Amino acid sequence: MKKLLFITAMLTLLSPFAAWAMYKPMRVLAPSWVDGITCISSEICLEDKSQYKVAEHLYRNALGDVSQLVGLFKENPRVIFCSTENCYQSFGFKNSSATNVGTSGIVVSPRGWKAYYLRHEMIHHRQSEEFGVISSLFKPEWLIEGMTYSLSGDPRKRLSDRWQSDRDKFNHWIQSIGMDKLWEEAKKI
Ligand SMILES: [Zn+2]
Repeated sequence: MKKLLFITAMLTLLSPFAAWAMYKPMRVLAPSWVDGITCISSEICLEDKSQYKVAEHLYRNALGDVSQLVGLFKENPRVIFCSTENCYQSFGFKNSSATNVGTSGIVVSPRGWKAYYLRHEMIHHRQSEEFGVISSLFKPEWLIEGMTYSLSGDPRKRLSDRWQSDRDKFNHWIQSIGMDKLWEEAKKI
């Protein structure tokens, strides 16, 4: 994901139009240009309009939970809800359940319509706001992924070894500093 963000940032700086044409994740910047995607508001875009109520419910709950836990969003994230793999892949993603691209947007796969997945990606958005999109790339994985796996309330007791070790390390760190110093201390790392 770090590589992806880096390429996105570089392409945007070089040429926004070329980035759009060449690099699929850039499409999160203007999802309504993507075939079959409708943006109902500046916050919610989706493939299957009949699912709007479900998407909005997920969005509002996750936004409220995440704001309460890690502070208010400077700008509410845009979330694109895909109902098919084809839609998810048209943004350049596959296999994962959902993906956040800096502060540009979040794309949710058909497998990712779950409160904790949305909270996970929204926390990544908050990290980009607090650290900066580029600086986030240089933070250690245990801080970036450990924070999201831990604070999203991911219900899986045991994650794969890599994410489990990130989550354990973050939990140990946050216990020693306390949630009220989360960003202040995280920025020093
Ligand atoms: Zn993540």
